[in-house]
Amino acid sequence: MTTTFRANTQRDLPRIAEKLRLSKDQLADMRAVSAVLPFRVNDYVIENLIDPDSVPNDPIFQLTFPQRGMLEEEDFRRMRDLVVKGASEPEIKLAADQIRGKLNPHPAGQMELNVPKLDGETVAGMQHKYQETVLFFPTQGQTCHAYCSYCFRWAQFIGDADLKFASREADQLVNYVRDNPQVSSVLITGGDPMVMKTQVLRRYIEPLLAAKLPNLHSIRIGTKALAYWPYRFTDGADADDFLRLISEVKAAGKHFALMAHSSHSRELEPPMAKRAVERVLNAGAVIRCQAPLIRKVNDNANVWAQLWRRQVLLGMVPYYMFVERDTGAKAYFEVPLARAYKVFTEAYSQVSGLCRTVRGPSMSASPGKVAVDGVTEVGGEKVFALKFLQGRDPAWANRLFFAKYDPKATWLSDLQPALGGERFFYEEAMEAARAESARGR
Ligand SMILES: *Cc1c(COP(=O)(O)O)cnc(C)c1O
Ligand code: SF4
Repeated sequence: MTTTFRANTQRDLPRIAEKLRLSKDQLADMRAVSAVLPFRVNDYVIENLIDPDSVPNDPIFQLTFPQRGMLEEEDFRRMRDLVVKGASEPEIKLAADQIRGKLNPHPAGQMELNVPKLDGETVAGMQHKYQETVLFFPTQGQTCHAYCSYCFRWAQFIGDADLKFASREADQLVNYVRDNPQVSSVLITGGDPMVMKTQVLRRYIEPLLAAKLPNLHSIRIGTKALAYWPYRFTDGADADDFLRLISEVKAAGKHFALMAHSSHSRELEPPMAKRAVERVLNAGAVIRCQAPLIRKVNDNANVWAQLWRRQVLLGMVPYYMFVERDTGAKAYFEVPLARAYKVFTEAYSQVSGLCRTVRGPSMSASPGKVAVDGVTEVGGEKVFALKFLQGRDPAWANRLFFAKYDPKATWLSDLQPALGGERFFYEEAMEAARAESARGR
């Protein structure tokens, strides 16, 4: 067992394929797909979370390894031919860029609509969509200990600088929170900010504390490290320093939360993961858990029920179940909204109230976080009851609206208004916002 971090990338696939007893064909498939979509996995994940006997159906294998079905058949064949015949790097890159361009790298208007401004200038490395919460993307935190094959941030990992949200500017973050008293929460995200050394994290967090901003109530870090690299919290001086940082945030009178990306109960089984959770909680943080519902990874009510139970058992708080976003290899992973609602409901009905802090299944769409809250009939028409959990306009929060039931729909944009409506209530406001941001550029 090694606690020195080492990431495997496309180059290491042959060695891993041997370890997982994969065939030559499977290896060639993986090489082709990983030429287009980012691939990175570390030995902790391979050794502790994947069961080689159940590959390729193993959920964590599906979560972290490139799969043939992630590309359209035609694109897959083109790339596989190039890889197998040993095509040149520029040739492979050209094909990869063309295929990526088709995969909607920027869903939900992230780049255009939610860029904050400070003194009239746009601020890089931040996103401000919901009144209370600012997202901050530290430059050094834009990678992860392993990559999820469905990640909606995939465009950030392929090295195209224009596509990255990033910032070195801790000062800008402080100034922005000070200038915007409606902001109570800073969510540091990535990638996975926990790839950064604590010393680097401190460069962002300490100025926020030193500024004594009365409106700032909480600091959160979004991370998958409890699952992909629990040693980050258990091993060595840097781990200890992170726990100290948590206590310092607490001592400054702020709430500290790890927003743990938690996809499968198996991630929380290794003793090292449990130890990591225990240490973070003992340091005074709260761990809230969220993950998307992904076909072949966790598209099963029992898996979710077990996941929420285990989270509560370890002292974590179930928070969100998301719907897989409209980007990347969505077609491979997507679960129709009707089925997502069914999985959520069947899982929810099996667990105690302690697990029912979870909300979902929720789409992070352009107008906001929209949960499928019911499938029902109104006046003889079968409908989805949808509810805003978060809205670009705070007045939309908790607002219920109806869409025509559609068993195939997988995203908000697939849905039509029900009960004779022509447009959803938020559409006019969204158009105005888009027009305004187009004028601003
Ligand atoms: C989910 C999300 C947040 C955080 O929302 P909470 O409901 O407070 O956890 C903030 N900004 C964006 C853009 C988000 O998608
Ligand atoms: S850990 Fe998060 S940011 Fe990193 S690949 Fe997975 S989903 Fe994407």
